[in-house]
Amino acid sequence: MQLSGRVAIVTGAGQGIGKAIALKLASYGADIAAVDVNLEKAQEIAKEAQSMGRRAMAIKADVTSVKETEEMAEKVFNDLEAIHVLVNNAGITRDGLILRMKEEDWDAVIGVNLKGAFNCSKAVLKYMTKMKWGRIVNIASVVGEMGNAGQANYAASKAGVIGLTKSIAREFASRNITCNAVAPGFIETAMTDALSDKVKEDLLKHIPLGRLGGPNDVAMGVLFLSSNAAGYITGHVLDINGGMVMA
Ligand code: NAP
Repeated sequence: MQLSGRVAIVTGAGQGIGKAIALKLASYGADIAAVDVNLEKAQEIAKEAQSMGRRAMAIKADVTSVKETEEMAEKVFNDLEAIHVLVNNAGITRDGLILRMKEEDWDAVIGVNLKGAFNCSKAVLKYMTKMKWGRIVNIASVVGEMGNAGQANYAASKAGVIGLTKSIAREFASRNITCNAVAPGFIETAMTDALSDKVKEDLLKHIPLGRLGGPNDVAMGVLFLSSNAAGYITGHVLDINGGMVMA
């Protein structure tokens, strides 16, 4: 699963799962573009990748912006001379029951989680097509497969990401570009810190492996799907959920 000579873009790389993915890909040899709305956090990740001997850059970009994502891809291609891997990881939640969910909460979550993945994919695909090699890995969620009360916007965005993944997989297979998703269960990050101990206890009852996941569990799946080893896998959704949902 070596990624030496590969250039990988990770969105939402500043913390949590994105940080773990960026550093995992770097530790397996990839040069890294750490993309986040928070430039300082992205710079820390780039520095850490550089300390491993990789070329690495930090880019401030909001994935909801077509202009910023196009400029981001152009900058990575110019500075690192390639784009081999894109990990669409940036994501947000704005939870609430449907009858109380505000329009702006629906739009914000669909905008970052789904439109953001579309924008970044579209921006890099022209470079991957030129290179005749590419790997896109989208971070979906178990919630996109099973639904979740109080997360209609988030679940819809992640189900949409799965449809986007399979469509890119079909459109670009002939160019030697694969597109897969990972669907994490409940992973300990800032996003899930907000859950109460009671909710976490209840969740554990539904996880056969008996623990919440860690960012590294997700990063290992992304590493595999980004590598040569996964060359005959496309349009797949890899569940990383401790057995919580078994397709
Ligand atoms: P996190 O800790 O909240 O990190 C998300 C990162 O994305 C943050 O650095 C955030 O920056 C950045 N970001 C937010 N909006 C952005 C935008 N518009 N453009 C660029 N960057 C943006 O979340 P996480 O738990 O690591 O989750 C990462 C991904 O995994 C998300 O797609 C999430 O839906 C998915 N996921 C998480 C879990 C879980 O249990 N944690 C489970 C399933 C799937 P700021 O913090 O500065 O806003």
